[in-house]
Amino acid sequence: MKYDVVIIGSGLGGLLCGNILSREGFSVCIIEKNHKPGGSLQTFGRKACLFNTGLNYTESLNDGQVLNQYFRYFGLLGKLKLQKLNEDGFDIISIRGQKYKLAMNHRRYADTLLEYFPHEKAGISQYLEKIKNICQANSLYTFSNEYSNIFEFSSLGIGAASFIASVIKNQRLQQVIAGNNILYAGHENKTPLFIHAIINNSFIDSAWRIKDGSHNLVKILTDNILQQGGKLFTGIKAEKFIIEKNKIQFVKLSDEALIEGKYFISNTHPEQILNMTDARNISNMFNRRIRSLEDTMGIFTLYLVFKKNTFPYLNYNFYHYNQENVWIAGNYDPALWPQHYVFMVTATSKSETYAESASVLTYMDFNELRKWENTETGKRGEEYEEFKRQKAEKLLAEIEIQFPGIRSCVEAYYTSTPLTWRDYTGTRAGSAYGILKDFNRPLESIILPKTKISNLFLTGQNINVHGILGVTISSVLTCAEIIDLRYLLNKISSV
Ligand SMILES: Cc1cc2nc3c(=O)[nH]c(=O)nc-3n(C[C@H](O)[C@H](O)[C@H](O)COP(=O)(O)OP(=O)(O)OC[C@H]3O[C@@H](n4cnc5c(N)ncnc54)[C@H](O)[C@@H]3O)c2cc1C
Repeated sequence: MKYDVVIIGSGLGGLLCGNILSREGFSVCIIEKNHKPGGSLQTFGRKACLFNTGLNYTESLNDGQVLNQYFRYFGLLGKLKLQKLNEDGFDIISIRGQKYKLAMNHRRYADTLLEYFPHEKAGISQYLEKIKNICQANSLYTFSNEYSNIFEFSSLGIGAASFIASVIKNQRLQQVIAGNNILYAGHENKTPLFIHAIINNSFIDSAWRIKDGSHNLVKILTDNILQQGGKLFTGIKAEKFIIEKNKIQFVKLSDEALIEGKYFISNTHPEQILNMTDARNISNMFNRRIRSLEDTMGIFTLYLVFKKNTFPYLNYNFYHYNQENVWIAGNYDPALWPQHYVFMVTATSKSETYAESASVLTYMDFNELRKWENTETGKRGEEYEEFKRQKAEKLLAEIEIQFPGIRSCVEAYYTSTPLTWRDYTGTRAGSAYGILKDFNRPLESIILPKTKISNLFLTGQNINVHGILGVTISSVLTCAEIIDLRYLLNKISSV
């Protein structure tokens, strides 16, 4: 059978493109190398607890806000159980133990920070105005008919850290504002302002957890595609494109099957496209550019299972730094590990009083894992297990300083490293969010959905912005290569 659209990868990007295009009458087929769809949105269970992997909280889901409108269009609202985080402090930033609340909505955010930094009124308001304007300038954010592309921002060549420092005088406040920058693997000398702005502004608008696991989101999106007659093949890897006259005719799968399509969308890291395509079909320039781009840093996660009714449900995320500079990704020092962490309990319908589990995230440089880079998940050996145990104990000791007694609440723990992510999602070196956008090389590090192969398009976190909102916007940009963007935005905004 020949499909209208063949999508490689069933991460959020692949599933959303599949939803949009199958609704528009295209026959869609998704190929996923893992046994379950969802990529970074998959959950796993241990000791009757569910753990999210790549969706701990999300943003802008109040009525009238941007992700609310997208979720409404995708049929997610009303089906997902959502937990709004504390409006007076959805994130707490702890710098050397001194704690600051980041509150929801611009007015409360400003008022709360002014309690700690009373002399920064003008700077905070300038900062908020700028991040709001960056979002409002983008029609994929506002659904306005005046089309403006996310890549046309005048802020593309401006750094997030330097912008913050240009409007905020107090150095501690500069750090507080950037205190949740692991959300975008923030790099002090590379992260563009527009990445910081889209993410921070959207979380300030409102911040939410999905109750009972992000796999529920995957299930709804997958069911939508199947109900429209689409197909999903799991446990099969897409390995090679068969190209004639600059058009992909087939994709060859790991079981040797050939899938024929009119359009192909790749939800993978762009380097996989290079590996799947004969060199003569890819320009040397594109090849060199993709291979030379840096990826965002990977993450070590400690998953804690709590003894029943011992640890409280915390309706906020706790970001801790044991140093002054919160921009860790570019200043990573393995000797000081862990220089920071974010602690997030899992939201479930079982209890609003106690947490059954928590995830703790901190960076881990792939160089610390070089010894095992040629091994596969589950087969890395006892030395690797011991390495992870030692890291977990070290991290737990740090957490215990801020949450005294937590260890006695822990029934069991599990860990994942960037190697786990590399093997699971296929990102280079287990990068958390794919390609690192760099304001010093804005045009090189921003990948467009269109490729030189006439019927191949890219989607997902490597183009545009990562995260739930970022990938949602990417999927619309990708589909707009096949159907008209204005038509699509009208449809999304009129649901
Ligand atoms: C630790 C961590 C925590 C995060 N927390 C949050 C959060 O709290 N909030 C938030 O908004 N974002 C968060 N994110 C980011 C967010 O999860 C991702 O940006 C987003 O899910 C990426 O979606 P994607 O579709 O681009 O890619 P992926 O989820 O990586 O999906 C790619 C898919 O392609 C498949 N694939 C790859 N190669 C092939 C092949 N050759 N053949 C077939 N299939 C293939 C993979 O198996 C995978 O399923 C987090 C990320 C990480 C790493």
